[in-house]
Amino acid sequence: MIPDDEFYKIKGVPGPTKEEIRCLVMCKARVSSNDVVLDVGCGTGGLTVELSRKVKKVYAVDKNPQAVEVTLKNLKTHNPSGDVELFENDALTIMDDIPTFDVLIVGGSSGDLVPIIKKGYEMLKAGGRIIVTAILLETRTSTVLTLKELGLNPEIVEVFIARGKVLDRGTMMKGSNPVAIITGCKSI
Ligand code: SAH
Repeated sequence: MIPDDEFYKIKGVPGPTKEEIRCLVMCKARVSSNDVVLDVGCGTGGLTVELSRKVKKVYAVDKNPQAVEVTLKNLKTHNPSGDVELFENDALTIMDDIPTFDVLIVGGSSGDLVPIIKKGYEMLKAGGRIIVTAILLETRTSTVLTLKELGLNPEIVEVFIARGKVLDRGTMMKGSNPVAIITGCKSI
């Protein structure tokens, strides 16, 4: 995994998803070298870059033009040869223009969470995975309810990462905000 501070970052574009959370997302997504992934809300490109180093192809979308620029810059630095197609658009719109995929990652949805999951599920190959990272309480609930409605058996893990700051007098553990990682798998 790429350390957080090796990502180019600008104000107004969220991310990168913290290194430890990126690890867990990749693990829960069970990505393999044959997978095609759609990363909704690429932000700084934290997940897009990591995914591009592990899978066959990544489609990444963000409605914020600055996020697309930042992601592009991070891709050039960290994986210039990765097969990534970047879209500056709304997630629901670009889903009409891309082929089916094995993994859907949702890191941002701004009000469209439920339709993104539902449309994503339609486009997901059999055995494919949906992974939603949730900061808000409401995102957790809506995701679990939507995955259940689709007949999936959602798994939810909540993680609280604390990092040690090593000081002269000892090591101070500093906690970050909890993040939920919710996963659903489409049956074969
Ligand atoms: N995973 C990213 C951070 C995601 S932040 C990283 O590691 O860097 C969430 C992003 O989702 C924001 O940049 C926001 O612009 C984008 N977003 C929110 N709703 C969206 C939508 N409906 N379509 C496309 N992008 C969206």
